[in-house]
Amino acid sequence: MTGLRRDGRDRVVGVQGHDRAGAPVELGARWVVGADGLPSRVARSVGAAINQVGRAGGATQYAYYTGIPWSGIEFFVAARSFAGVFPTHHGQACIWVCAPAADAGAVRRRAGSRVEAFGELLERSAPPLAERLGQARRTSPVQGMLRQPNQLRQAFGPGWALVGDAGYYRDAVTAYGISDAFRDAELLAAALDQALGGEAEETTALAAYQRQRDQALEEIFELTCRLAAYPPVPRFIELQKQLSAAIDKEAAALAARPVPAERLLATA
Ligand SMILES: Cc1cc2nc3c(=O)[nH]c(=O)nc-3n(C[C@H](O)[C@H](O)[C@H](O)COP(=O)(O)OP(=O)(O)OC[C@H]3O[C@@H](n4cnc5c(N)ncnc54)[C@H](O)[C@@H]3O)c2cc1C
Repeated sequence: MTGLRRDGRDRVVGVQGHDRAGAPVELGARWVVGADGLPSRVARSVGAAINQVGRAGGATQYAYYTGIPWSGIEFFVAARSFAGVFPTHHGQACIWVCAPAADAGAVRRRAGSRVEAFGELLERSAPPLAERLGQARRTSPVQGMLRQPNQLRQAFGPGWALVGDAGYYRDAVTAYGISDAFRDAELLAAALDQALGGEAEETTALAAYQRQRDQALEEIFELTCRLAAYPPVPRFIELQKQLSAAIDKEAAALAARPVPAERLLATA
């Protein structure tokens, strides 16, 4: 998608883009849903307002490694850093390190490359892990982001709506966001169903979506902003425990929601 189509009253009525071969494509739509992540072109094209912003502070770097056994998820907490191991398929693990952007930026300016900077950050944050990686082989480039925003965007407007990272973004120190994207998709689908089916006036239905979204993410957004400020280690660990409880609470609330379209499935 490269742009939005609008009618004479500036309502979004479709998208412009191109197919895989590069041929131009135009699609009409009663609603355009931006599920296009943090750099969301939909959000930028409509000028979606940022309604809430937390201090932007954190950097996250990661890469995949293979060649040594990974026994499970690992976390390493140190002053002003948080690192870990997420084992994944084919004997690989994602190795990541989070730190204040100022610290990661200073290391990157000193180091000769991203790989060296990553190694130095890991050495500082998790020396035993850095030592083990000496026996492992890196299977991906080092990737990441230096200054991650904490922001909440307006979720809808005339003919458009946003879900997931397009609608709001949190520092990756919590490594959490996929459930939120699914939750938003479900809440928005229910709201659009009401609006398109004439059960509710569209602004009322979409405002309810935004209200539900904002309430659901409030606690974890707040905790993320505090974690991304890297308080002293005991406080950081206490916040992680609060995060864990908040995630459990959110999972229970999501599981308790009615199955979308269950009524239709039952009669199919
Ligand atoms: C380092 C890191 C680690 C993380 N770890 C976890 C974790 O362990 N667990 C967890 O729950 N969350 C984690 N997250 C957060 C999680 O990745 C995101 O919250 C989640 O992926 C958001 O999903 P989304 O669908 O909204 O956006 P995205 O996953 O960003 O998907 C957006 C999609 O839109 C496509 N797109 C963009 N622009 C266009 C366009 N113009 N036209 C067509 N398509 C377009 C993109 O190619 C992409 O496929 C992590 C994030 C980071 C940065």
